[in-house]
Amino acid sequence: MIERTIYECEHCHKRRLINKSAMKKHEGICWYNNKNKTCLTCSGYVYEPPYLEPHPELDGCPNEHIDAIRYCEYEDKNLDAEPVINCEHWRERD
Ligand SMILES: [Zn+2]
Repeated sequence: MIERTIYECEHCHKRRLINKSAMKKHEGICWYNNKNKTCLTCSGYVYEPPYLEPHPELDGCPNEHIDAIRYCEYEDKNLDAEPVINCEHWRERD
């Protein structure tokens, strides 16, 4: 049996790699690293998950797919699926 060490990203806790230097590289660009000032760590970021809205008024009660909402409170606008990186409006969460 071989015992191996696996490195886990200390920011997102999702990414796991065997290669330590590759993990260092990932942590440097991770969207969950405060240093990168992305939407995902910003106090002004609002996320509402996608959902299905039933329409009982229509034949067969079809479901309408409502997309996820990603919204920036500081810029008062909807965001794309990819977060903004190094945003000038970024503020740390409490
Ligand atoms: Zn990460």
